Amino acid sequence: MSGSIAPAEGMEGLAATISEGYQTLKQVTCLEDVYDIMDFLMDEVKDKYSHIRCKIDCAMCCKGLHPPYITALEWELILYYISEFPQIIKDEIVRRARYYAAEYRDALVLQHRLIQGKIPQEEIRSAYQTLAMALKTASCPFLVMDKCGIYPVRPAKCRAMGNTVAQIGPEVKIHTCAWEVSNFEDYLASQPERALTMPVWNVFEKVIEILNPPDALKAVIPIWLITHVKGNTIAEEVDPNPQVLL
Ligand code: SF4
Repeated sequence: MSGSIAPAEGMEGLAATISEGYQTLKQVTCLEDVYDIMDFLMDEVKDKYSHIRCKIDCAMCCKGLHPPYITALEWELILYYISEFPQIIKDEIVRRARYYAAEYRDALVLQHRLIQGKIPQEEIRSAYQTLAMALKTASCPFLVMDKCGIYPVRPAKCRAMGNTVAQIGPEVKIHTCAWEVSNFEDYLASQPERALTMPVWNVFEKVIEILNPPDALKAVIPIWLITHVKGNTIAEEVDPNPQVLL
């Protein structure tokens, strides 16, 4: 799908390429098409902002609070991918799911309630502080020796990390890890204006939401994994709305 989008000629052409990418998104019929367009645009952004790219072997965005919330469709692709893994790796994934549920149960419940919008506005800040402490030692269950073990099917948020901006209420923020935010700030301070030409994460989020079954769950990766471990095995079929009883 991305083959029809013209690569940007210099920083000046990036805005046109991004907007062409948005237009192409209107024709997608499956998640793989969205990923294809995202990867193309993210590469274009990395190419133009080469001085602020993520460091090789840095897995900060896979640790602590960072592992992302994802949709049923994204999880379905991951589930299909891991179903092809050898049994020994599947056993390790089940072990990690159990460990996560036992070690971070309370934090997962709080994080889930936060994502479902069940925490009152005035308590959100302190909920994030609690989570940052409770998940300090956590990492994505698919992180293996600081590398993504499901890279070809990693979710949209992982693809967008570091190369997009996100609209959060009235504010536009750089969609990256806490460590990189200060690098971006330094970069912006060195520029004549505080403008970034980057795709907006919310656009991809909306398209993926539309492709998902209505009312499908949105949850962090560990919750999808834990709810799909049945006995000693990983379920083969996705349950788009599993009961979250951790
Ligand atoms: S899916 Fe991969 S890239 Fe995303 S948080 Fe997990 S390990 Fe990191």
